[in-house]
Amino acid sequence: AEFRECDLNRLVNDTVLLLRRPCEKQQVQLLLDEGEVPPFRLDPEKIKQAVLNIIRNAQQALPQGGRIEVRTAVRDGHAVIEIRDDGPGIVPEDLPLIFEPFFTRKGAGTGLGLSITQRIIEEHQGRVQVESAPGEGTRFTVELPLDVP
Ligand code: ADP
Ligand code: MG
Repeated sequence: AEFRECDLNRLVNDTVLLLRRPCEKQQVQLLLDEGEVPPFRLDPEKIKQAVLNIIRNAQQALPQGGRIEVRTAVRDGHAVIEIRDDGPGIVPEDLPLIFEPFFTRKGAGTGLGLSITQRIIEEHQGRVQVESAPGEGTRFTVELPLDVP
């Protein structure tokens, strides 16, 4: 991995920009709330990929439109990226499976997005968590330590 000191908000911004038009076309409001995050060491291309996979899933969960909120912050020595959508949510039986390679509920899904995201976050000594329930939407929380050597 190519770790270097980066501005996380800039990467998240770049990623959100990629999905701005597709979301507009789909009547999905894509909101970004940038908190103050100091520069820290990470692999920028990988973190963009990891965040893109999560936001793309949120977009795909909202074919009839809706809202995606992306937020950055610092908490307990970690940069935090939160991605929340008001889509249909995930049934409890699926929750333990969604990070497994090849697990998908989509007709043409690969089931690889979240497994790749998880691997990337682990390479950064971070973690990714999900909270979701049917009818309640979904929230992914990515935590990245600020002090990785
Ligand atoms: P794929 O997108 O190819 O299905 P992923 O690994 O990206 O593979 O996601 C696995 C599964 O997790 C999806 O098929 C879907 O069932 C579920 N999922 C992930 N994100 C969301 C979300 N935001 N809302 C609802 N379901 C989700
Ligand atoms: Mg996916």
